[in-house]
Amino acid sequence: MDGHGRRIGDLRVSVTDRCNFRCQYCMPADGLPWLDREEILRFEEIERVVRVFAAMGVADVRLTGGEPLVRRDFPRLLGMLATVPGVEDLSLTTNGYLLERDAEALVGAGLKRVNVSIDSLQRDRFFQLTRRDSLPQVLRGLEAIARFPQVRPIKVNAVALRGFTEEEALPFAEFARSTSFQVRFIEFMPLDADHAWSRDQVLSGEEIRAIVHAVHPLEEVPREPHSTARVYRFADGRGEIGFVNPVSEPFCGDCNRVRLTADGRLRTCLFSLGETDLREVLRSGASDAEVEQVIRDAVWRKELKHHVGEAGFQQPPRTMSAIGG
Ligand code: SF4
Repeated sequence: MDGHGRRIGDLRVSVTDRCNFRCQYCMPADGLPWLDREEILRFEEIERVVRVFAAMGVADVRLTGGEPLVRRDFPRLLGMLATVPGVEDLSLTTNGYLLERDAEALVGAGLKRVNVSIDSLQRDRFFQLTRRDSLPQVLRGLEAIARFPQVRPIKVNAVALRGFTEEEALPFAEFARSTSFQVRFIEFMPLDADHAWSRDQVLSGEEIRAIVHAVHPLEEVPREPHSTARVYRFADGRGEIGFVNPVSEPFCGDCNRVRLTADGRLRTCLFSLGETDLREVLRSGASDAEVEQVIRDAVWRKELKHHVGEAGFQQPPRTMSAIGG
């Protein structure tokens, strides 16, 4: 539990800060100074932390990056975590570029759900934003994982940027209507490496919803507890579309999430300005009970909410690429 009476049930684990894409809203073209190998948690250390969290009732584990599939032998880690008692839901957030290569191994290891980040369905615009001409490969990855019915739901997450995503709204709506993939638009958040974020770059979920609704009428689906998305079904029954609006409609009230960075820092909020060094604790010979106590103390101080858009808001020094969403 945190100090606001919220029960933590969802752990996001960043397994690497490295990525094979260079998305404009995330990192510079030349990438960032990557963490050294010995700074990164080893598979056994990640497994130990997940085991301690699972013993405290944290049943949902999402693996993120950077780009998690660039971490060598990643499916082996997934398999280790799939056997941890108490882990009920094991999911992945990926840019999809290596998904075709790894789909079978991931499913064999126990993957249950996957979110694929795709910001445009138009090849040139995808290239423009990610600095990679990789849309066809990403779509092949999506098809590859979709062949496994045991991996559901499969979500496609698109970051919403003013002056870019307006043109993507209807193509993504068509995509959601003609496939089994759940499309979600995510408002641009101040976690970019350039610290260039400003409120006027945010295209709100409501604005995109209006663009889609004008062509394909939408009906709101009741919100699930802890859900980050406002979900709508198409009135004619052809699928769903969702909006994750952390800037215009924060959902911190029933937040049940905490994060572990690739270098073993516990972040109790996406926008935390402080972190707890679990790697130090793990490598100091501490017992599981001691690790648990460090986690409980940190989570008890979890932030009530973020302050994006408020006077005095401070962007965290750690960027999205080193947090993993
Ligand atoms: S901003 Fe922080 S408190 Fe709000 S939903 Fe995200 S992680 Fe939870």
